[in-house]
Amino acid sequence: MKINLLSHSLNELIVLFEQIGEKKFRAKQLFQAIQTQGLKSIEDLSTFSKDLRQKLSELYTLDRPEISVNQISRDSTQKWLLKLADGNEVEAVYIPETHRGTLCISSQIGCTLTCKFCHTGTQRLVRNLEPHEIMGQIMLARDAIDDWGLINQERKITNIVLMGMGEPLFNYDNVAHALKVLMDPDGMQWSKRRITLSTSGVVPMIAKCGEELGVNLAISLHATTNDLRNILVPLNKKYPLEELLDACAAYPGVGHMRRITFEYVMLKGVNDTPEHAKRLLYLVYGIPAKINLIPFNPWPDAPFERSSNNAIHAFAEILENAGYSSPVRTPRGEDIMAACGQLKSESERPKRTLEAARETATLNLMDLFQD
Ligand code: SAH
Ligand code: SF4
Repeated sequence: MKINLLSHSLNELIVLFEQIGEKKFRAKQLFQAIQTQGLKSIEDLSTFSKDLRQKLSELYTLDRPEISVNQISRDSTQKWLLKLADGNEVEAVYIPETHRGTLCISSQIGCTLTCKFCHTGTQRLVRNLEPHEIMGQIMLARDAIDDWGLINQERKITNIVLMGMGEPLFNYDNVAHALKVLMDPDGMQWSKRRITLSTSGVVPMIAKCGEELGVNLAISLHATTNDLRNILVPLNKKYPLEELLDACAAYPGVGHMRRITFEYVMLKGVNDTPEHAKRLLYLVYGIPAKINLIPFNPWPDAPFERSSNNAIHAFAEILENAGYSSPVRTPRGEDIMAACGQLKSESERPKRTLEAARETATLNLMDLFQD
């Protein structure tokens, strides 16, 4: 199989070129063509001789994932179901807004974690994505919305969030590799301030992520007691709230200008009362933070309901009165199941209905935890 070069760093390309007796500056030309012009095929690189193009094309490729399904929501959110070279599928979502655009990408096919409110969590982990498949989602999105060749300020995609399928800190090496290439000053020069990595709380990897990548950190918090979080986000049993919040407080660079984002999904009757809001304030006290309230996005057979608008606004008001910015995230792309936590490879759906039903049954236990 040909080696995909989409996420090769400049140094890696230089080594490849040395091996085939080619000059360093050629490697840089190729790197820039891939990263800044969106070169799709080595054959198209007209500054290279025909021989060299042919030699490279025999061994290497710049293929993006293939689009299996392209859906555009009523609110213009665009979701791509992408087929990878081995036939597995992942999803990426583009969310255009006024003066900005966010691309949400996946880090794994499925997820090992089983957060109870998350659709991806009902799909088992198939495998980690390779660096070129992570980068491939960005390349493909830029191709699809014609976002190449523009200077930074004019890009349609201004922000990249790792909030799609999978737990990025369980695929750290591949995610880090792709993000470093994305931020390379000779390439796309993506600013670390415009990249957000969301984690369900893999505590031992948090400091490393801050030190090596320096990207924004989002934490999927969702509960204010260990008892409830153990159920909603089972990883909490391994890394409880105290350890998670200590890691956030110590996140490199965090301060007035750089806040941690806490994501909090609003589940009716489960975590949405004023008492929960007050406990949340107590938990994040002392950590420069933003709190994103995410109205629960339903999926078939989901064992939860979205909190009422009144409950969400009362919750937000308590946070805001305490001085926190706590925007309520407007669900985007709901009609095409592209909203947070709804992502799941289409091909997985039919196989898992029995299992989903079983999960729903066990979740009646949740009643125990309503205050
Ligand atoms: N695995 C990482 C990255 C995925 S991010 C993480 O969990 O942080 C996806 C975000 O959407 C997370 O904050 C997740 O908790 C949230 N989410 C999952 N299912 C959801 C749902 N059904 N409705 C709203 N938000 C959901
Ligand atoms: Fe995995 Fe994140 Fe979904 Fe939890 S919320 S199951 S960690 S993708």
